[in-house]
Amino acid sequence: MISLQTTITELKSVGASIGKRLAQIGLNNIEGLLFYFPFRYEDFTRTTKIKDLQPNMTANVVGQIELIENRRAHHRRMYITEALINDGTETLKVIWFNQPFIAKTLKIGDTVSLAGVAEDQGVLTFVSPVYEKIYSGGLIHTAGLVPNYHLTEKITQKQLRYLISQVVETAAQISDPLPEEIRKKLNLLSLSDAVKKIHFPKKWSDIDEARRRLAFDELFLLQLKSQLVKKDHDSARAEIIEFKEKDTKEFVAGLPFKLTEDQRQAAWTILGDLGKTRPMARLLNGDVGSGKTLVAVIALLNVALNNKQGVLMAPTEILAQQHFNTVSKLLENFPLRIALLTNNYRLLNNDTLPASPDSAPLPRRGLNRAEILKMIKAGEVDIIIGTHALLQEDVQFKNLALAIIDEQHRFGVEQRKELMKKSGHPALTPHLLSMTATPIPRSLALALFGDLDISVIKQMPIGRKPIMTKIVPEEKRAAAYNFVREQIKTGRQAFVICPLIEESDLFGVKSVKEEFTKLDRGVFPEIKMAALHGRLKAKEKEEIMRGFLANDYKIMVSTSVIEVGVDVPNATIMMIEGADRFGLAQLHQFRGRVGRGAEQSYCFLFPASNDEKTRRRLEAMEKISDGFALAKMDLKLRGSGEIFGTAQSGFPELKIATLWDYELMQTAQAEAALLMQTDPELEKNPLLREKINIFEDKIHLE
Ligand code: ADP
Ligand code: MG
Repeated sequence: MISLQTTITELKSVGASIGKRLAQIGLNNIEGLLFYFPFRYEDFTRTTKIKDLQPNMTANVVGQIELIENRRAHHRRMYITEALINDGTETLKVIWFNQPFIAKTLKIGDTVSLAGVAEDQGVLTFVSPVYEKIYSGGLIHTAGLVPNYHLTEKITQKQLRYLISQVVETAAQISDPLPEEIRKKLNLLSLSDAVKKIHFPKKWSDIDEARRRLAFDELFLLQLKSQLVKKDHDSARAEIIEFKEKDTKEFVAGLPFKLTEDQRQAAWTILGDLGKTRPMARLLNGDVGSGKTLVAVIALLNVALNNKQGVLMAPTEILAQQHFNTVSKLLENFPLRIALLTNNYRLLNNDTLPASPDSAPLPRRGLNRAEILKMIKAGEVDIIIGTHALLQEDVQFKNLALAIIDEQHRFGVEQRKELMKKSGHPALTPHLLSMTATPIPRSLALALFGDLDISVIKQMPIGRKPIMTKIVPEEKRAAAYNFVREQIKTGRQAFVICPLIEESDLFGVKSVKEEFTKLDRGVFPEIKMAALHGRLKAKEKEEIMRGFLANDYKIMVSTSVIEVGVDVPNATIMMIEGADRFGLAQLHQFRGRVGRGAEQSYCFLFPASNDEKTRRRLEAMEKISDGFALAKMDLKLRGSGEIFGTAQSGFPELKIATLWDYELMQTAQAEAALLMQTDPELEKNPLLREKINIFEDKIHLE
């Protein structure tokens, strides 16, 4: 019998190769499959009569095949399969490219169900529709509400959908971790029903109900987790960090600009927190470019001047390197040792500082891991900047008093805890500062991060001009390039972001290379450019970033790896290819890479398609410069039927719930608090406890 633990490859219909590909997206057993939720649905609840089809209409058509045959296209090495379908009202032309086997699968006289878009090609034509032969059984691909899943290389929607349809009944075996009382009280579906309905809903209300239950689970777990953390935290003790007023004032006075009032306020609050024995647990929330790093540096400086250690952890190697450079530069007048520790780098800020009074000066490069770890453990380094590499077990501090996590949504709670455990003193917990640019309103943030205090930076540094954002249609591309050329002549720099064109191009190597070649050979032959993608070695990436910062390269062609945090104030142009392939929140992050200096900056959006919906989304970018407003707009524009993915929300824990499920979040918070009163260690709810542990493990990393 099939159980939840049955591995996918044990199923008769699954070959080893498909099994392997599914394993790549973390799908190994039936349970995994069942919890791999669709991200949207196509509505083929109604069949359209062929005579009623209109150009550009998405529809489901059912009819008999009157003719089907393959032919070769003239110039290209391509097969075209052409068919005529008749449903009694009219005949419809259908074509498929390079799938000659279709003419073997579908025969004249077969009744088929087709789902696709009718295009006006002289005559109305269905181009490459999804097809399904009608036998007696139900249709899963072309009729009703058809689920769409995120795919991996060489797995099709049809394969995955079929596979899930084969095992969906196994959902009955799922045991429900949610206490029965809560479920009844809130009128939620059982978990097994919710899972069945999310995959194969019969009507839209099924999706809503399933979604509500699954979203509640996520929010409830999140809340339980928060409250468990808070409980631990409230009983913890931290190192008291004395406010070094004179040095701090000197440092601030030495900056090339004035702190914004919000920065000042945030720094002030943080310094106040650091002076207490209760460990700080604070979230610093400020839009991209609002200057969070500086606030972090003020805190790090005070910790270091108290002869304690501070750590700054960033989600990517590029960002860690950038922070290392920024912090080293900002604090160069203080006799502090600053280290960079990532999987590929162990650097020190100042090669003339001896490790200890009697040892020789250390080189800037060439430290090995053991050496730097020894220095950190011995307390010879004041500020440590790094990536996840900091979490490894052998990284030990002498007296870690402050842990700062940049772009905190990229890390899980478990990792935060991992870092906090390393204080070097069993009885003391480091102060914690989490930073994020995820636009969340304060009320929501409070509900989401029940365990954190919150500071918000709303103001942008003065003198920032809004970034001029324009959608560039193909016919204006050349003009845009000319404009970029002029800007570069005046000394400015530009980014070009490329989308992933193929699912198989995981690291964006292909898309970046193609774009680079096009621009480098054809458009800007006189301009020095660099290409950045996920397959480059860390060292190569650093060289490129450094070259770009030094203004050696004028244009940087990149994948979305530069999405978070990268700060190059001289760059004033952001060009985004295939802009419609990104969510608004992500586009906003890209745009935040420019407009960081005093110069007017520009963001050019090149859409890959030109439909109405795309246009409206991108127009929002032109009009709105505030990240929060955009995030809200994104949600509205994507409309019903979409289940929102994590990438957009910035919360890896949330697959189904969104930040906008405010009421549900409040309910979850209240229920979590109630449960914590009666069952503080979740001993009576072992399944929930287990879920919390799994939930934490599952949070994925970039
Ligand atoms: P984010 O909040 O996105 O992390 P950063 O800390 O990277 O932003 O800061 C963005 C840029 O703004 C940096 O180049 C930084 O030097 C600059 N900056 C920070 N604070 C101010 C300020 N008060 N006035 C002018 N520029 C500032
Ligand atoms: Mg930042």
